[in-house]
Amino acid sequence: MKKIILVFSFLCLWALGATAAGVKQGSVKTLVDSCGFFPQMSPDGQWLLFSTTEGSNLVLKNLATGNQSIVSSTGYPGFDAIFGPDGKVYYVTQERKKNNLLYRTGHCYDPATGKDEIVLKPQHGQVQALHAASGVVINGERQVYTSAKQVGAYAYTRGATLYLVDATGVSRELRPVADSNGYLWASLSPDGTRVMFEAAAHGVVVCDLNGSVVAELGELLMPSWYNNDYIIAMSNAGNARLTGSRIWLIAVDGSLFKPITPKEERAVQPMTAGGKVVYAVQYGGEIKQLELDIQPATPASAVSGKGKVEKVRNVKSKKDVPRVFINPGHGGHDSDDRHIPTWVIAARDTIHYYESNSNLTKALALEEILHNKGYETALSRKTNKTEDDLDLFEIVTLAANSGADVFLSLHSNATGTENRVNFPLALYRGWDDRAVAEGSHELSDMIMHFAKLNELTVWSHKERSRGDWSFYPEWGYKVGLGVLRYNKLPGTLIEGSFHDYLPERERLLSDSYCWLDAWNYSLGLDEYFHNYSKFKNGVIAGVIRWEDILRQDDDMRLYGDDELKPLNGALLRLYTDRGVMVRAYTLDILDNGVFVFSNLPPMKYKIEVYYGNEDLYISTKVKAKKNVTVYKNFMMRKDMKPKKKKK
Ligand SMILES: [Zn+2]
Repeated sequence: MKKIILVFSFLCLWALGATAAGVKQGSVKTLVDSCGFFPQMSPDGQWLLFSTTEGSNLVLKNLATGNQSIVSSTGYPGFDAIFGPDGKVYYVTQERKKNNLLYRTGHCYDPATGKDEIVLKPQHGQVQALHAASGVVINGERQVYTSAKQVGAYAYTRGATLYLVDATGVSRELRPVADSNGYLWASLSPDGTRVMFEAAAHGVVVCDLNGSVVAELGELLMPSWYNNDYIIAMSNAGNARLTGSRIWLIAVDGSLFKPITPKEERAVQPMTAGGKVVYAVQYGGEIKQLELDIQPATPASAVSGKGKVEKVRNVKSKKDVPRVFINPGHGGHDSDDRHIPTWVIAARDTIHYYESNSNLTKALALEEILHNKGYETALSRKTNKTEDDLDLFEIVTLAANSGADVFLSLHSNATGTENRVNFPLALYRGWDDRAVAEGSHELSDMIMHFAKLNELTVWSHKERSRGDWSFYPEWGYKVGLGVLRYNKLPGTLIEGSFHDYLPERERLLSDSYCWLDAWNYSLGLDEYFHNYSKFKNGVIAGVIRWEDILRQDDDMRLYGDDELKPLNGALLRLYTDRGVMVRAYTLDILDNGVFVFSNLPPMKYKIEVYYGNEDLYISTKVKAKKNVTVYKNFMMRKDMKPKKKKK
C-alpha cells in the first residue's frame, strides 16, 4: 500500500515541477552497445569505465577514439570501481584464501600510462572505493588507503550505520534512520554540507552533518548528487525488479520528481559526471548518456602533492571470522509470498502458511546458530513487513556492502501445479559446471549434502545443486535468478523443500522444523569454511508417527512414511543415561509430529514419549554427537503399553 501512495504523490510533484528543469531534447547517446553495466564517467568526460555482466571484467573505453581496454579481469573487479578526481581508476578485487575466507585488495589504475598498482594489501571484510571531497579513499575494516594526505571529508556505510569522516580524519557514527537493516550509497553533497544515503526498507534520505534528516526522497536506489540541489537515482521496483526501472531527477527541496528515461527502457545504475548522466539498460547492457539543462556541480579537483603523498592507515586488527549474509526470501505477506491457508485437522483451524514466515524463522535461527558457532552475520530483513520486501538489486548490494564471505538466500519451493514433489534444491548463478562466483557450486553442494540427510521429511526425489542458467534454460541466455544477478560473493539460493506438498507445509509450520533446516545449513557452512566451527554440542531430532493410523487425505499424493498420521500433542522427556531429566518437549498439534532437542552435550540419552493421559508410552536410547544431527524417528501404536509417569 505504501508504494502506491508514494507513486501518487510523485505524480503530483512531477506536474508541479515540470517547468523547473528538464532534459535537453535529443541528447541521449549510446556509449556501449551491449553487456555493459555500472558505468562510471571520468571527471573530464574522456573515459567511460564499466563492468561486464558478471563483474569479471572491468573495461575502460576512450570516448574520443572508441578504443576499449581491459583494466582487470581477475578477482571480480567489476560493479563498484570509481574514478578519482585525478582521472585514475580505483577498484577492489577479491580472492578466496585460507578457510575460504574472502580477502579484498585495493588497486589504482592510471589510464594515461596503463600502470596498475596495488595500493591496499589483501584484507578480510568490507573494502570499498569511495569518493572523498578532493580525492579517493579505499576503505577497509583493517586498513584504509587515501589517494593523498588530505582528501577532505567523506561518508560511507557499513551495516545500518552511516560513517562521516571529516577533513581531519575524525570519524563519527550516525544512525539517522531507525528500523533499517542496512544503509547503502552514502555520499556528501558537492558543497559538503549534507550527506545522502539509502536506508533499506525506508528510502533515500538526506541529512545534515549531525545526522538530522532534512529530506526524505522516497523509495529509490543508487542516488548520486547532480549538483547541490538535484539528485539522480533509479527506481526501487521492489519485487517487480524484473519488469521495470527508470532514472529519476529529483530536487532535494521536493519541487521536482521527474523520470528522465522512458519506462520501456528499464534503465538502471545511474551516475553523474560533469553534467552528464550515464546509466545501463537492464538485460542488454547498453550504456547511455544524457545531458540535463540544469547547472551541474563544479567537479572537485584532486589535491596535488609532490612525490608519494598517498597513505595507508591501520584501523584495527582482529581475528578473521567467516561472515555470512542471509537473505530471508520474500517478506511482508505480499502477493509474491505464496500464501496458502491450510486446514489443520488436529488444530481444527485454518493456519495461514506464508513462505516469508518460514523463511524468516529459518534465517533468524541461522543467525543465532552461527553466532553461537563464532561466525559473523548480516541479514537483509529481521521483520516481516511490506517495507522490508526489498528490491532484489538492493538485497544483493547489501550483501556486497556487508563484506561477507558468502551469500545465502533462504526459500521454500512450490511446483505451482497439481504435481506434488518434495526435494531440496540449491541454485547458484551460472552454468551447472561453471558458477559465476567461484566457490558457489561448492557451497551449494555442501549445504545440499546436509539438507538431504534430513530424516524428518520424506523426499520424493534426490537433492539438486544446479547453476540457474542451466536450470532455467527457457529464461534465455544468462538471465537466472534476480537476487543472484550482480552478485559476486560465493552464493546460493536454497529452496529447502516444497511447501505445496501438504505434509511438508505442516512441518514448516513448526518453528523447530525450520530451526533444524537452519542448523543443517550451518553444518554445510562449517564444512565450506573448513571446519571453522569448534561447536561442541549436537542435535537429536525426529518425527513421531502412528504405525497403525493412516492420514485421511484421500486425494493427496503422499510419499513413504507421510502416509502415516503424525502424533499430536505428545509429551517428550529427555534423560541422561544417569536418569537425570534435562529437557521436555511437547509436540504441537499441527499434524507434523516434529521434535528437536538442540544444543545437547555429546553423550547417551533416553527419550520417553507419553501420549494421551500417559496411556501410551514408548522410549528409546540415543547418543548425541558433536556438531552433528542425530535422527531418531518413532512409531507409536494404539496397543502400546501404558507406563506410569515419572515424577
Ligand atoms: Zn521463495
